[in-house]
Amino acid sequence: TPNTQARLRIAIQKSGRLADECATLFKGAGLKLNLRDQRLLSHCQNLPIDILRVRDDDIPGLVMDGVVDLGIVGENVLEEERLERCATNRSAEFATLRRLDFGGCRLSIAIDKDAQYQGPQSLAGTRIATTYPYLLQRYLDNAGVNASSCMLKGSVEVAPRAGLADSICDLVSTGATLEANGLKEAEVIFRSKATLIQSTKVLDTATQELVDKLLTRINGVIQAKE
Ligand code: ATP
Ligand code: ZN
Repeated sequence: TPNTQARLRIAIQKSGRLADECATLFKGAGLKLNLRDQRLLSHCQNLPIDILRVRDDDIPGLVMDGVVDLGIVGENVLEEERLERCATNRSAEFATLRRLDFGGCRLSIAIDKDAQYQGPQSLAGTRIATTYPYLLQRYLDNAGVNASSCMLKGSVEVAPRAGLADSICDLVSTGATLEANGLKEAEVIFRSKATLIQSTKVLDTATQELVDKLLTRINGVIQAKE
């Protein structure tokens, strides 16, 4: 019989904090890949899998639109995209296959290190710079705080010093960047790890079986480390 099985398409970050860990995970799961060159599309040599390497911000949308079958992305980026799509009546469906053991960070509100902080109400009437306006707004709504936000896609941590905002809402892992910019963490609003997600688009049987096999292998790789 002719081989009509579609190739499984998986989106991962091209370069950045998740890129090496994704490559290591796939290697551990037995995928033969050449990810050294910087091509957008890499064909797996021993399984019908194609790896698409893109900006991490593009990964949730590619999965939600069914352009790729699987993706690995930080939950922070995923949840922000989901909230934005829900707010604008666009499809935001996906299935979580597995939370992964890397990419850990927290989305936090950080304020001037010398500022007084007596809880979320201290933020009332202030402006907060962030790359995550929907996650921030959800937090402010739940806390009953009326504050404004301004979008910065980069250099968020310099916004207070530059006079663009009073405080920031940004990703933190060690806190060193905050300290270097004269800021202190006031509130953790979201805890994140990298996660493996699947499109809700129905796959042909053979391709879904490949997803199941890949997930079993990934579970094995992670359990072996615990
Ligand atoms: P891209 O070029 O793909 O858009 P980026 O600059 O947006 O990359 P990275 O800085 O590589 O993204 O971070 C990717 C993800 O790594 C984050 O979305 C987050 O989930 C996770 N992460 C873990 N620790 C940190 C941290 N200290 N700062 C930022 N992101 C972190
Ligand atoms: Zn990004």
